[in-house]
Amino acid sequence: MLNSRVAVLGAGMVGVATALELQSLGAQVTLMDRRNPGQETSYGNAGVIARSSLMPFNHPQLWKSLPALLRNNTAALRYSKVFMLRNMGWGLSYLRHATHSAFQETTAALDALIRLSTAEHQRLLRETGQAQRLRDNGWIFLYRSHAAFDSGQLGRDTMAHFGVRTQVLDARALSDLEPVLHHDLFPKALWVQDTYSVDSPGQVTAGYARAFAARGGSICTRALRTLQRNGEGWDVLDDSGQASYFDQVVVALGPWSKQFMGTLGVNVPMAFERGYHMHYAPGAGPARLQRPVYDTGGAYVLSPMEQGLRLSTGVELNDCDAAPKPVQLELAEVAARQALPLGERLEAAPWMGRRPTLPDCRPIIGAMPGRRGLWLAFGHQHVGFSTGTGTAKLLGALMTGQATPIDARPFRAERFL
Ligand SMILES: Cc1cc2nc3c(=O)[nH]c(=O)nc-3n(C[C@H](O)[C@H](O)[C@H](O)COP(=O)(O)OP(=O)(O)OC[C@H]3O[C@@H](n4cnc5c(N)ncnc54)[C@H](O)[C@@H]3O)c2cc1C
Repeated sequence: MLNSRVAVLGAGMVGVATALELQSLGAQVTLMDRRNPGQETSYGNAGVIARSSLMPFNHPQLWKSLPALLRNNTAALRYSKVFMLRNMGWGLSYLRHATHSAFQETTAALDALIRLSTAEHQRLLRETGQAQRLRDNGWIFLYRSHAAFDSGQLGRDTMAHFGVRTQVLDARALSDLEPVLHHDLFPKALWVQDTYSVDSPGQVTAGYARAFAARGGSICTRALRTLQRNGEGWDVLDDSGQASYFDQVVVALGPWSKQFMGTLGVNVPMAFERGYHMHYAPGAGPARLQRPVYDTGGAYVLSPMEQGLRLSTGVELNDCDAAPKPVQLELAEVAARQALPLGERLEAAPWMGRRPTLPDCRPIIGAMPGRRGLWLAFGHQHVGFSTGTGTAKLLGALMTGQATPIDARPFRAERFL
């Protein structure tokens, strides 16, 4: 049992799930955020709970595609040259991890975390009355040529190695599964069956936070500035300078964790893989998309959401809070209109989010070295909506000194801090 007052900073999926877990372990938990729960990165993602998302972007074959990516004109990856020059250390470390041994370690770690997380989401969605938001019909990777399909062999081998169920589809089988797609554009596709998705990741996060509050948890809306040691515990200081005392603190501020840890003199090697989304009305015709699809050639994911069809983009490496540059969304929209009938845009401006990414593409989950009572849970890159729940389970075990449900070592802060 955890008989202490704990502040969880950040009410995205990672913070909310952590607050729920620590509460269930007996702690008196306060969840703190400047916004209501689930309104930032955990709102705007593609909503996929993907057993297949094991491959870090810096897999060993990155070297082959690097020259094309460095041209800085693809829909999959754009980067700010100024950002990359200022973050050269991160970039070099990221590339240094594009090796077979790092790949094996990361894929095994993410597989364990995602399996744990998926089971936890199923439980929490049931407990919070949101089971109807969960689809269990997988997602589909679309390939615009046979050569493109062949180049995805490492991904398929990795999924096979970890027992992820998949089925290769030709154009006709794809059309049977998703009649809305212009299947002639996609001679090959891969249906990843072991994958779930939700119709509103923001609502799921908010629903978990409501359950936390209903079970006696406290939610506090405050912009936070820093922490100060106070005896055995910590003062959390907000922007007005007001201090609140807690025995233990969990930093789960997603992409803003880097800036916040900087106020404590800790340099977190995190980059921001920014991405955009826009909702669209369904196009003409009776057929509707049944599950998320990832058009590998168009470099976008299209997910059916309660707001409409959510088109989300690839990666833009840039400062966390630099002005939006939604060029990739324009490209993705053109590509998506080739793939299926897409109606009008439903919002005036695209949404922008940031995937918080550490050089080995694994989050930090565990104790902050040398600062007793300070715990870290951030850096969940492309899979934080999926893995917030497993993160919570792992951190709960670490904080209570219990046996951990999965190996905690690949996630420890000492890798970088
Ligand atoms: C385009 C896109 C698509 C994605 N698709 C998927 C997907 O399909 N599946 C998947 O698993 N993941 C996906 N991701 C990744 C996933 O969304 C993130 O990894 C995850 O949401 C991170 O959650 P978090 O709780 O760490 O951060 P967040 O959800 O960003 O939460 C951090 C919280 O901290 C608060 N905060 C920050 N600074 C302060 C401060 N100073 N004071 C107070 N509060 C503060 C913010 O308000 C915010 O609520 C996607 C990401 C993007 C950008």
